[in-house]
Formats: sequence, structure tokens, C-alpha cells
Amino acid sequence: MDSKEQLQEDEFHHPYKPYSIQLEFMRALYNVIENKKIGIFESPTGTGKSLSLLCASLTWLEKKGNLHMEVDDPEEKTNDSVPSKHAIPDWVIMQDQELQVDQAKSAHAYLEKRLEKVREKKRKERLLQETNFRYQKDARKRPTPVDITNSSTAPLAKSTKTAPATDESLEEFVVSNDISLQDENEESILGLQKGYSSKVMDLLHRLLPEDEKLPTVQKIYFSSRTHSQLRQFVQEVQKLDTSKISTPIRVVSLASRKNLCINPKVQKLSPTSAVNEKCIELQGSSEKCPYMKDDTRIWDFRDEVLAEVMDIEDMVGLGQKMHVCPYYGAREAVNSSQIVTLPYPLLLQESARNSLNLPLKDNICIIDEAHNIIDAICSMHSSSISYKQVSQAEVQLEQYLSRFSKRLNGTNKMHVRQLVKVVGELKKFLEKNIQQKSSNKVLLISSMFVSQSSDQVNLHHLIEYLSVSKLARKVDGYSKFLSKSKENVLEESSQEFDSRKEEKGNDEQEDKYTPVLMQLESFLSAIANPSPEGKLFYETQDSSNAFLKYMLLDPSKHFQSLTDQCRSVTLAGGTMSPLDDFIELLFSESQSRIDEFSCGHIVPKENVLTLLLSKGPSQVPYEFSYQNRTREDLIRELGRALVNFTSLIPDGMVVFFPSFSYLQFITNVWKDDGTLDRLEKKKPVFIEAKDHSEKTLQLFDEYSESVEAGRGGLLFCVIGGRLSEGINFSDRLGRAVVVVGMPFPNAHDIEWQTKVAYVEEKVRAKGRNAKQATQLFYENTCLRAVNQSIGRAIRHQKDYACILLLDHRYNRPSIRSKLPGWLQEHLEVPNQFGHAIRQVSTFFRTKRQSNK
Ligand code: SF4
Repeated sequence: MDSKEQLQEDEFHHPYKPYSIQLEFMRALYNVIENKKIGIFESPTGTGKSLSLLCASLTWLEKKGNLHMEVDDPEEKTNDSVPSKHAIPDWVIMQDQELQVDQAKSAHAYLEKRLEKVREKKRKERLLQETNFRYQKDARKRPTPVDITNSSTAPLAKSTKTAPATDESLEEFVVSNDISLQDENEESILGLQKGYSSKVMDLLHRLLPEDEKLPTVQKIYFSSRTHSQLRQFVQEVQKLDTSKISTPIRVVSLASRKNLCINPKVQKLSPTSAVNEKCIELQGSSEKCPYMKDDTRIWDFRDEVLAEVMDIEDMVGLGQKMHVCPYYGAREAVNSSQIVTLPYPLLLQESARNSLNLPLKDNICIIDEAHNIIDAICSMHSSSISYKQVSQAEVQLEQYLSRFSKRLNGTNKMHVRQLVKVVGELKKFLEKNIQQKSSNKVLLISSMFVSQSSDQVNLHHLIEYLSVSKLARKVDGYSKFLSKSKENVLEESSQEFDSRKEEKGNDEQEDKYTPVLMQLESFLSAIANPSPEGKLFYETQDSSNAFLKYMLLDPSKHFQSLTDQCRSVTLAGGTMSPLDDFIELLFSESQSRIDEFSCGHIVPKENVLTLLLSKGPSQVPYEFSYQNRTREDLIRELGRALVNFTSLIPDGMVVFFPSFSYLQFITNVWKDDGTLDRLEKKKPVFIEAKDHSEKTLQLFDEYSESVEAGRGGLLFCVIGGRLSEGINFSDRLGRAVVVVGMPFPNAHDIEWQTKVAYVEEKVRAKGRNAKQATQLFYENTCLRAVNQSIGRAIRHQKDYACILLLDHRYNRPSIRSKLPGWLQEHLEVPNQFGHAIRQVSTFFRTKRQSNK
């Protein structure tokens, strides 16, 4: 039987007086942790979700868990105790436990003494800085990496010319001839999969004197999608009312090397895997990373991190000041931290958890912004490669072989040739399917490798070789070098070209080079170790290109260790509904542990107007189904409605369409029939474009500028596109969010068909109705995307906006029930378009009057 405690608001260390919904949220989460449950928590943006998550979990840790030491689960001990005549007497067990508690207490006291000294030192430093008026208010900005290996602080002169390609200058691209797969196997597992080399592990081990071993404490893992969300969470910790907590809270922020590396020569490398590889390589070389010297500064760094709550930027600044690597330094602070913040990949991938040595047992796990967690886990274990990339990889490998063949020993040459063979097979397979205009299909891995010569290739062995030799990086590096050399030849021959290139900036230069070998390695790794819950399929793109995609369909196995080992796991988000997919795809084995919580919005009822419009101005039914949506009368009706609303809605208005192709179609029609001109006369129109994600943020900036400047703005974007998540349309930026139609998945899409087939198979195996389950999955996928877009509008308590859903299908009970709870309460369905116009007009007139 679950215990339900009703803690009072002052017991939660909340820095402000919590709203009633925040108090309910904190109580519910406290009980989830107390009862070892799985929580699915929904709390709209602006309701103080992060602070509620933090206060509830920390309060539980203080009251029922242990802020000071690792605890053994007493219930587990009771269950394990099997009576036996050889059983250890109770008094011995008790004495042992007492001893352990005493040891943990003294270790904790010792740690706190050390940290207090650090805090005292920092207090004095601050006082001194304030006295000298030199206190830097903006200490949060990440300082530019400084190369401490270089005595000069002047920036390195940029070489505009490439040195002649002598054998020596190309040394870095040659695969080592000392590779031994057998010997390096451990390195492969510990190094590349786990993220750091055995040499680093040795080094860390040697650096760890007995008295530096700090107590391990029970902890809260807080994970989110982006670093900025994690930074905000750390800022919430800094706000906490900790006056009643017996010990200062210790927090560490974990991140990738790309975010924490301070070695300028490594940090600037791209892609992220290059930073990892270079760092690992440095640990094993005589050169070493200057920030990872064999001394005790790393322990001082750890103590500084534990002494005060810091975010990633603070740690980077501290690392630069102390000349200590923040990436390795932060890891040393994990054991003694009560809160560990980390991005999804570090928490959700077993290899990453192992490399960081993160203990799960009996700890509390909170995953924020979890509405896309299923897709996030699946995409971490999925990979794809296109025909164009395979062709490019073939060219690069041939160039590499022809340049370095003489310098490679027999083993290296054999493996590179095997890789060429594999690439050749993939290319042939894709070429044949493109020529035959094959339709999208699910594949067996063996169907791609049909020639006799490919039988001689052991894919696992080849993957191991790729890991150990870093061949992909070397070939990519050499190809990049060749590409730059060609550019330089052109540069030298044409001054005019040179000046034009500078005008265009660096982005375009970067685009000329794509690290396809790394992509190939990732794809081969995925198909060499296929999961039973994964599928490989072929998908055409156009008449000249196609993809091979390996996709994980079932994330539950990869999530299970969290639910099995952690005391409680909580998924939280602004819009988590509909919840069925989480239950079905993540927690099907632990449904009895699930507790759901959904709270209303803190905005007053009169600040939100939600209308469901089932007809346009001329009574044409709004149904933007696939069959209907290109009808002329429907598009005209939509245009007329938007022209009407644009006249009434002040400032910014955001219109979401179900897909890029439909947005493009509709804007083309409106260009021709003059609707776009009519809209432009009311507000400047901004249109999101597909495949221009780097330009999307610029578009958003232009839209924001227009709104802020009083010109208003009408932004057309796509559900599921870059602007539908993580963008804040608060206040004037989003006085209305309009959703046109319903973004149901394309039933002909092979990726979708594969997912559906898997869901059906799973449900059938449990003896349930497969058709019902797939219909639910179909609707849930659509509504989850819609709910995200709707959630962009109301961002804080004083915000106000109207939400317009244009499609009569939203009125179906099964669909309505999947909208966020707070929105369902407000939803109105006017009979006539004219009624909707009157309601919108009254809503904004009232707001204008009350704001006077
Ligand atoms: S040890 Fe740290 S600073 Fe040095 S290269 Fe690795 S991540 Fe960068």
C-alpha cells in the first residue's frame, strides 16, 4: 500500500510562496519517490515546473533519503536474508552497519571541513574583488579558450597556404602500423565505447590517494534535452531556500567533452567524435593534454565544484583559471554530489553511464522535457547512410589507398581493402534499387551483401578495426586536407575569387566537406550489432538518391536499467499528453508502478481563448485530410479566415501547418490568387523553409524584430519543424497560435509503416486488439506534435493569447481527450465563423481595455 504524505508548503524549501498547483505537484512527486514509483508529470510552461521538481526531490532526499551517505536499502536487506544455521548473527550485522555509518559520517564531516575552507577562501576573494571594484558581474560568459601551451597570447597566425604534401606533413593521416586488435580490444571497450582510454583510467587511478576518496551519497539525476535547459535548472538550485537544510547542496553538471574541453587545439575540432578521439589520443601520447597533468590540481578543482553550485560555463571558467580539465574534473565530483545534471545521451546510453561510472541503484532519476524521450532514445540507436555518401566514401577510400598504400602494413591494407569491398557492395545495392525504381521496403541485412567476396569479410572484426585504428577519422582528415588544398590552388590563382569567398563567410567552406567515413562507421556499427527491436530499410529520396536506414523501434530495453535500478524515475514535461505511448513503449513491464500527474495552467481563465473552428467564413467544412486538403474552396476559405483574423489579432500571430510540402503548396496558391498580398497588407509575412534550419533562427529573429518594432508579424511554420519546439512565443510574439489541420503521420512512409508493424506485433503477442492499438498510436503521434505547437503560446502567468484549431476532427471525443487538460477546459466550438470572429474581437478588446 502506497503511503501518501501531505507535506506543508514550508517544508519544501521553495524560494517563493508556491501556487496551489505547485504544491500539489511537489506533494505528488514526493510520494512518487517515497513509494518507488514511475512518475509521468505534466505541468504547462510557466508553472514553475523545474523548481517544483527540484524542491520535491530534494526535500525527499533530506527527509527520507540521505544527504550525507550512500544508503543500503533496508527492505532489500530484509528480503535477502535467508534463514540458515550458518547465518551471521544479527548483532554482527548491526555492528557492521554501525561501523559503516560512523565511517560515512566521518568521511562526510571531513569533506565538509575541506569544502568549508574552499568556501571561506572564495568569500575572501569576493570581498577583495568588491573592495577593488573589480568584481566581474558577467562571470557566466564562457571565456575564450586560451592556449596555455603557447607562451604568446597572440592568436595563432592563420596559414592561408597549404604546405607541400610531403610524407612527413601527412603523417597524422596514416593508420598506425602497431595496431593489435587482440591487445587493443580492452582499449576499444574502455576507450571508444566508454569514452575514455584505459591510460586515462590508469592515470586517474594513480592520482587517487586514499584520503582523496570522498563519500558517495544518494543522488538526484536531473536530465534534460539541451544545455540551456540544464543551465536554467542549476540557476533554480541557486535560488533555493536552503536555510533549513542541514548541509550545503552539492551539485555537478556533466557534459560532453565538446562542451567542457578547454584545450583550444582540441575544443575547436568538429564533429564531436573528433574531440573525443583527439582527447583520448592525447592521454596516450607523450605530448599529453596540458590540462590533464599528473598532479593533484584535479582534486582542488573537484573541491571547488563541490563547494559552490556551478553551471557548465562556471566550470569551464574555473578550469581555465586552475589549468585543470573540467571534463575529467567534473567526473570526480559525481560521487559526493547530491544533484547531478546531465544531457540525455549521458543518462540514456549505457555505454556513457558506464564510462562516467554513474551509479543508478536507489538514486532518483528525473527526466525533463520528456515529451520526445521515445524518439530521443530510438534516434540514439539508429543510423542511416545515403547513396551519395556511400559513393563519396568510396572515392575517399580509393584516394587514401592510392596515397598511403605503401606506408600501410599488411593488416592495415587488408582491412582498408575489406572496407572498400563493403562500401562497393552497399553502393551496388543502392544503385540497383535506384535504377529499378524500387519502392521503400524493409530489408534483411544479408540482402545487401550478396557477392562471394563479401563472405570473406567479418563485419564485427571490421568494426573493431575501425574503432581501434581510427581509420574513418584519418581518411576524413586526409579528404579534408585534399579539399582544402584544391581551394588553396584556386585561391592562389584568383584574387577575385578569394575576396568573394571571404564575403560568403566560413559556413559555406565547411559545407564543402562532409565527414562521410564517420557516418559510414556509425551505420556499419548499427547493422553489425542489430537489436531484435530494430529494423533495416531502404528508402528512396529522389531519382538519384536513396537511403539505407537502421532504426530502433522499441526503446524499452534501453530504458529498463533506469526503471529497474533507480529508486524512482520521473518523466516531466509541459505537454506530456497523450500518455498511452509512454506506458506502452517505455513502461509496459512496470505499469503497476506508474503514477500520473497533470496540473492546470496558472494563467487565469480570461487570458486564454481557445476556439475550435469546424467551418470557414462561407460554411466550407474545415477538414484538412490528405484527400481533401488541396481542394480550391478549402484553401480559399482558409485564406479568407486568416485575412479576417489578422485584422483583429494584435502583434505576432503564428500559424502552424501540418507539413512543409503543404505549406509550400498553399503559399504557392496564395501567391497566385493574391491572398498572400492581402495578408502582407495586414502584417509582414514570414515563412519557414525546409532544409534551411540554420536560417530558421534568423527568420525567427526577423519576425521578432518586426513584432517588437510595432509592425506585427504573421509567421507560417510547420508542426514538428524547428519553430515548433523550444521557441518561446511569449507575450507580443504570439498573441495567437493557429493550427491548420492535423499532422497525422504519412501512412505510406516506410519508417511509419515499420513502426506500426512493430506495435501491432507487440500488441498481438499480448493477446490484445492490434487495430485499436495502432489507431491509438496514430492519433497519439499526431496529438503529441500538435500539443507541442500549442504550448508555444502561453509562457507565463500574465501572458494572454488565443488558440485556434482549424479542423472539425479536433472535436472527436478521442482527439479532444488527448489535448492538454488545461486546454480542454477552455475549448469552445462556435457554430458559425462569425461567432468566432466576435469572440476573438471581444477577447482582444477586453485585453486592450484592461491593459490601459
Ligand atoms: S583532457 Fe580535457 S582539456 Fe584536455 S583534451 Fe581532453 S577534454 Fe580537452
